[in-house]
Amino acid sequence: MPLLDPILLKTRLGELAGRFDIDALAVCDSTNSELLRRAEAGAPAGSVVVADRQTAGRGRRGRSWLSSPERSLTFSLLWRFAVLPAGLGGLSLAVGAALARALEALGARGIGLKWPNDVLLATADGDYAKLAGVLVELTSDRRGCQAVIGIGLNLGQPVDELAQPAAGLDRAGLAAVDRHAVLAAILRELAMALDRFAEAGFAALRADWQSRHVWQERPVQVLGEGEPLAGVCLGADADGALLLQTAAGVQRIHSGEVSLRPA
Ligand code: ATP
Repeated sequence: MPLLDPILLKTRLGELAGRFDIDALAVCDSTNSELLRRAEAGAPAGSVVVADRQTAGRGRRGRSWLSSPERSLTFSLLWRFAVLPAGLGGLSLAVGAALARALEALGARGIGLKWPNDVLLATADGDYAKLAGVLVELTSDRRGCQAVIGIGLNLGQPVDELAQPAAGLDRAGLAAVDRHAVLAAILRELAMALDRFAEAGFAALRADWQSRHVWQERPVQVLGEGEPLAGVCLGADADGALLLQTAAGVQRIHSGEVSLRPA
């Protein structure tokens, strides 16, 4: 029996319950992989797969997302866009902003965002630890464009050894949260953010995202294939590209193959 009960979740979703079709699994490879397969087989928009345990949780660029049933919430949401919103690259930023809003509405404090896809938590030493990751995977067919939006959220401190600092919601002032309440709050904010995104693209959510961006106006390095690129982070453009003030002028950087770090 999975830790999450879809019926209880539906009651938490109230009037929005009809927009989601939720399946809770005890285990799967990756909720994104599972939902991509279901999307291919015709799953409706609003389908949600939540899993207690992922055996092959994924991050960007073939990286792993590590989770455990007791300390994590891992799920994916399928969304369809009839018309391609301009700058679909801003979608993972829009999702991050929605996630931050949901956690704050539940009472979490110290939430920040990092371009392009991380939700961070301010730590006592003035640094940040990763609280959640977002993995958006896009496909298109004759029905339009579909996005599988995967979220891995740490409810408690991860036990695995990770390359970068990580934290759980318990350190954001939300100990012993009810996972149904957390997931319902996130789905609610996602529905609102995705509707706005479909209408007006990331531009409509940009100010919201940027107000939480932890490296805003600060010196950063962009790490990619070649030499690191140094500059001052000017935030995200209306299409989600990172704006970097460098010695050679303002550069626009698209997500994908790069990582942002403080200088
Ligand atoms: P960056 O932009 O900082 O390079 P990323 O966006 O490439 O990071 P993601 O793809 O979002 O990172 O997530 C994968 C990475 O997150 C892994 O390489 C690992 O270091 C880290 N990670 C994996 N599981 C967790 C977890 N439960 N909590 C925090 N961090 C994690």
